[in-house]
Amino acid sequence: MHRRRFIATMLLAGFTLTAAPLTVTAAGAQKFQGILNDYTDTTNAAGAWHINGHWSVTIKGNGGKADVTASIAMIRNGSGVSPHTHHVVLENADVIQLSNGYSIVGTGTITTNGAAAFAGSLVTVLLTGSTDVLPSNVSFTFEGAAAGHFGPAPIDGVVTID
Ligand SMILES: [Zn+2]
Repeated sequence: MHRRRFIATMLLAGFTLTAAPLTVTAAGAQKFQGILNDYTDTTNAAGAWHINGHWSVTIKGNGGKADVTASIAMIRNGSGVSPHTHHVVLENADVIQLSNGYSIVGTGTITTNGAAAFAGSLVTVLLTGSTDVLPSNVSFTFEGAAAGHFGPAPIDGVVTID
């Protein structure tokens, strides 16, 4: 992948990355992906929710819109009860370019064990980083009905480089 080679070259060369890697042109989409790994509802007697998942963000050619997917497994930490899954899709979500990455906001199409859930919930995806890996971090923050399940705090993860 061109992007992978570019990042590796920059790391090897010790370049200070500025906004350059974030530049999105009409030439094509820019795709990021990685994992989510976090805990919520940490005071629950059954154990915190352990959240594990894969996600992807495709920022489209003009840079103003993005498609997002996430595949999430949840299980009570320690007790191992209540395993279940969620899938999250944002289509044509709005992209705001930040000095250290992207903020992507849209209404999520969300499922629980394959069935529609939490209709109309806003989802904010932050892709942020710093000088050597940009973006390096991801977070998903749910609002509305989805926040009642996932909690209001960001669910954190990592951007994969390979
Ligand atoms: Zn869940």
